[in-house]
Amino acid sequence: MAKYIFVAGGVMSGIGKGIAVSSIGRILKSKGFKVTAIKIDPYVNVDAGTMNPIEHGEVFVTDDGVECDQDVGNYERFLDENIYTDNYLTTGRVYQAVINRERNLEYNGRCVEVVPDIPNEVISRIKRAGEKTKADFILIEIGGTVGEYQNMLFLEAARMMKLSYPRDVLFILVSYLPIPKKIGEMKTKPTQYAVRTLNSAGIQPNIILARSARPLDEIRKRKISVFCNIAPEDVISAPDIETIYQVPLNFEKENLGNKLLKKLNLKPRKKRDLKDWEIFVNNAQKTVKIGVVGKYFKTGEFTLTDSYISVIEAIKHAAYSLKRKSVISWLSAEKYEKNPDLVKELKKYDGIIIPGGFGTRGIEGKIKAIEFCRKNKVPFLGLCLGMQLAVIEFARNVCHLKNASSSEFSKNKEAVIDVMPEQKVLLKEKKYGGTMRLGAYKCKIKPGTISAKTYKDLIISERHRHRYELNNNYRKILEKNGLVMAGINPEKDLVEIIENKNHPFFVAVQFHPEFKSRPLRPHPLFRGFIIQCLRS
Ligand code: GLN
Repeated sequence: MAKYIFVAGGVMSGIGKGIAVSSIGRILKSKGFKVTAIKIDPYVNVDAGTMNPIEHGEVFVTDDGVECDQDVGNYERFLDENIYTDNYLTTGRVYQAVINRERNLEYNGRCVEVVPDIPNEVISRIKRAGEKTKADFILIEIGGTVGEYQNMLFLEAARMMKLSYPRDVLFILVSYLPIPKKIGEMKTKPTQYAVRTLNSAGIQPNIILARSARPLDEIRKRKISVFCNIAPEDVISAPDIETIYQVPLNFEKENLGNKLLKKLNLKPRKKRDLKDWEIFVNNAQKTVKIGVVGKYFKTGEFTLTDSYISVIEAIKHAAYSLKRKSVISWLSAEKYEKNPDLVKELKKYDGIIIPGGFGTRGIEGKIKAIEFCRKNKVPFLGLCLGMQLAVIEFARNVCHLKNASSSEFSKNKEAVIDVMPEQKVLLKEKKYGGTMRLGAYKCKIKPGTISAKTYKDLIISERHRHRYELNNNYRKILEKNGLVMAGINPEKDLVEIIENKNHPFFVAVQFHPEFKSRPLRPHPLFRGFIIQCLRS
């Protein structure tokens, strides 16, 4: 029988629950078990695709085209396993399924009720995900924090599962212990409240992961033990650390993996094997400086980089594999718009990335940055919108199509980037949710290109999330002027990769390679890019 470990958050959100789940997954995998992870997001949105990245953070895309929470990206990265649609639940998805079934008379005329029908739907989805992946362990992250109205039905589902399978279900609470500046002491009271709230939902945690700025001392461990009804050794210290990839190693210092196995009457199938991981985390000696020109950074006084999480991680993986630590600078495209002269600062970086994005803000600034990289031979990697803008820049400045643009930004210009006919219909009918070109598509690479060299393969598959494409009517003129169409989708004959000749590394892709980068298997394009950054 598969084992289920539910992970809930106490006190506040944003304390690394997703990383905790991912790390536990990695540890269990290293002990010889097959692991999968499920994300439950309590919001009503059917998926994360319709949400603003500043508010919600990055939208991650799976191979089967689900637009989901960035934690799913963490699961894929830490577990080195693909996660599919069944592993992503939202209130919207669950209710939608129940309502559809009710409309189809599948409840045989009986009254359909919030409890137990909604928790039952949650349970059947969790089980289905486990069965499909044939996992020994199914880790389930319940989004938000305990006590929130929104996740009550999911906690109810968890409680019901424990009742049905008492020996196969565990609960972990990830809680936060603040250290108020004026007091200078780590406080356990909020965690005590969180556990009581969880208790009132009928759940007792088996493990508490105590997140804090500093490690937990024995006094606090004992206090939590007494007040939260848990053995002191089951309170695990989880202090802030430099990189998320150290978390599995830190948990293992407290023997978390074996503690979980023991509670479930299991023995490790393999001796501890996080060696590769340890080498990967401690490998970097020198640095590589990467500039990312984007726009989803600012919220009030704060700089948020959550919107580009997969790009950041892909840079890190590639850099680590070359024994480098990446130093990433966030460069606001809008400042190049206001003051084009500032683009000269891009010379300071070993390489420049322009990531994906939507809407018109910052567009002209990004185009200026691309022009600078092209002319000054600065290594450049364009991702999705980054590729579309590289095409516009080339059309304007090399092909002399002064009005070149994308129909996403302006209607009456030369649309070198345009919307596909089937997308036009969707937009007209306001069918926005889940209707972009999403998920994995094949791409055929042209031999002899930089892409062919970096991928070492001529047929690849990459994940997409966009509505607009390079307009095939302009392909000839772009090619005649020297733009290399280095990758083509064979089914739809769409351009997926462009390269600039006479440049050490100018590669821009319509897809999102960052979604497929893994710590121990860095993405070839990011690796190729960093290699060139170190050469230039
Ligand atoms: N806005 C562009 C499109 O929809 C690019 C999207 C992206 O960068 N993910 O095609």
